[in-house]
Amino acid sequence: MGRVVALFSGGMDSTTLAWKLRAEGWELILLSFNTYRRNPREREAAERIASRLGKATLMVFNLEFLRELFDFTEDAKKSIYNAIPDAPNIIIPYKNIIYYSLAAHIAAQTDAEALAGGHTLEDQTGLPDASRPYLDELEALIGRSLPYPRLRILTPLIGLRKADVVGLGHSLGAPLELSWSCWRVGELHCGLCGGCQARMKAFREAGVEDRTLYSESSLNY
Ligand SMILES: [Zn+2]
Repeated sequence: MGRVVALFSGGMDSTTLAWKLRAEGWELILLSFNTYRRNPREREAAERIASRLGKATLMVFNLEFLRELFDFTEDAKKSIYNAIPDAPNIIIPYKNIIYYSLAAHIAAQTDAEALAGGHTLEDQTGLPDASRPYLDELEALIGRSLPYPRLRILTPLIGLRKADVVGLGHSLGAPLELSWSCWRVGELHCGLCGGCQARMKAFREAGVEDRTLYSESSLNY
């Protein structure tokens, strides 16, 4: 196996992705992007997790001008919501085309032969730029930009639900307890927000012990 440039946030999906790619024998270059509202806890988690991978290289880039829809001006939001009334306010418009374009450039610099992202089944609804048909088109477009070497976009988690991701990560020995899912910026996961709730549910459904420390531990069942 050669070298792969993987999008790496420090959440459960990208942590499992990294361990899966490593198990397949890839040499990992992990890309992390600091966007306008990126949770600093997530950033710290990415650093801790990457250091557990041994031979992996973590590259962090500041893209603080990239904002979630939530942080757009009211006029800009209005135009987008007129066109897509149910657009989730946490999306970063055009995120994946930006991320994969940067990853492709890094791949060229580092002689990597593939790109990878931890997109899951849940991402397929509501996030059109995380679907496999979209990524197939993007892969072809990147190939036309610099056809040699041809970069594949690997998405080994794309058919998996969150609970399946936890099961896979656990079986591969990924340190999921170090990953960050909380939307708040506390010392511990809050246990209450949507991110924490989805995390707890995934561990519960996977039948894997959740070693995350939650500040509202009564909800950690
Ligand atoms: Zn939380």
